[in-house]
Amino acid sequence: MPEFSGPQWCMRFPGSRLIDDLDPAWRSRVWAFVSVLQQGGAHVEVQATLRPPERAYLMHWCWMIAHLSQAPAAVPPMEGVPVDWTHGGDGKAARAAAMVEAFELQFLPSLSSRHIVGRAIDMSIVWDGRLSVRDFDGNPHYILTEPRDGSNPELINVGASFGVIKLATNQPHWSDDGR
Ligand SMILES: [Zn+2]
Repeated sequence: MPEFSGPQWCMRFPGSRLIDDLDPAWRSRVWAFVSVLQQGGAHVEVQATLRPPERAYLMHWCWMIAHLSQAPAAVPPMEGVPVDWTHGGDGKAARAAAMVEAFELQFLPSLSSRHIVGRAIDMSIVWDGRLSVRDFDGNPHYILTEPRDGSNPELINVGASFGVIKLATNQPHWSDDGR
């Protein structure tokens, strides 16, 4: 029996915040990057790592309905996720918007997100003053430029040396291929 869409769905199919849940082939690179950041005095807070495909489905389609005029009846079903996007009345977009809020979404989540295969991480990175870090090859970098967060171009270059690539259009998101 399908159940109406709404924020109660956001508690199901929870995502991970643990670096250790990432793909083992990429995880060590993330650990290495995060370690040099922390040693350099940056504060790193991981918001998301591995995401079940069911969660990606719910995140994607609630945003589409709430913000991109997606017709609820045209949302493709997903096996194992008996959500009814089409229930009657005018509340459909409001329920989808409540899900967007509960998921704390700021961007349209991708159905083929690198999070699903454990090759993406959302994290906030901030520091005061100068950030002193070594890149993957051991070269020191003294980052004095602003902004003092994960969008800093010099920091993005250091991350790339570890194979942790920034997606420029999505503030907290890093992955193995920049998508
Ligand atoms: Zn992400």
